[in-house]
Amino acid sequence: MDDLADGVRAGHRSSIARAITLVESRRADHREQAQQLLAGLLPATGGADVQRIGVSGVPGVGKSTFIDQFGVNLISEGHRVAVLAVDPSSGRTGGSILGDKTRMGRLSASDDAFVRPSPSAGTLGGVAQATRETMLVMEAAGYDVVLVETVGVGQSEYVVADMVDTFLFLTLARTGDQLQGMKRGILELTDVIAVNKADEEHEDVSERSARELSGALRLLRGTDDDWQTPVVTCSALHDVNLDRVWKHITRHRDWLETHGGLERKRREQAVQWTRAMVRDRLLARLETPDVRGVVKRAEDAVRAGEQTPDQAADAVLDALDDGGGAPS
Ligand code: GDP
Repeated sequence: MDDLADGVRAGHRSSIARAITLVESRRADHREQAQQLLAGLLPATGGADVQRIGVSGVPGVGKSTFIDQFGVNLISEGHRVAVLAVDPSSGRTGGSILGDKTRMGRLSASDDAFVRPSPSAGTLGGVAQATRETMLVMEAAGYDVVLVETVGVGQSEYVVADMVDTFLFLTLARTGDQLQGMKRGILELTDVIAVNKADEEHEDVSERSARELSGALRLLRGTDDDWQTPVVTCSALHDVNLDRVWKHITRHRDWLETHGGLERKRREQAVQWTRAMVRDRLLARLETPDVRGVVKRAEDAVRAGEQTPDQAADAVLDALDDGGGAPS
């Protein structure tokens, strides 16, 4: 593991790939090795120079076109760019829709970029954990801009918002009904909005659409002290205004620094992650065959009126206390 950590820190692609394979694995011995590796890499992650950015938007809005161009622009300014993806459906469909190398041709071909499709670990929790850990591997390997792509499936946007500093939402110019088409929750977790494909519309349409969105967002946000989500029009295809999007992302980062600090946000996210993991693992223990038997008996006893729900719940928790479902 020490050699692998050295290889990752030196930025060797083969070491990075091996490290990612390890953190994505669900085999118990691999998990143990992965945690050992990550513990070694941790001091080299989460630096002040690192930017973690979530990118979301419906299929077809232009995410991969945007990330490809955006990433190429950042590399020309001296950044190193990692692209990860959270796509919980990829496990079911057998192939990943997001972070696909063929969709980000120029970026994938660059020595200063690393594009990784979504892990197909099954549950959203599993995918999220693998992505978080991969993010740490990428940072230790010297990638200072980490883009995490997601599509609005289930809770995936919330999961991604919880692992990044800044959440960017791509949308299209649609006036009037625009807000209805957007999940309100998404607006609340969005830090920057880009109205893409501005080249397709008459300039007025995109600008008006951006203004309307901006006005609606102002109503949504509370005090003057809150971050006011900027709305920019852009064209990923023709590389128009992507520099402005970047400017707003760095401005948001500066805002975080003056409102509690980036470091604190990241630590708090790590704490939330810990809590989520505790919940996931407890739930997983309930699903193991021995505990499932106890759960079933407890539920049957409640159904038959032989036990109160409180007694039945105690029986299940006693089984957990006795080590039921614990990994051997
Ligand atoms: P994704 O599904 O969100 O990743 O979207 P893609 O990046 O695959 O883009 C979907 C389609 O929209 C492709 O045909 C792109 O060429 C096109 N597209 C993306 N960005 C723009 C843009 O800024 N302007 C125009 N006119 N087309 C774009």
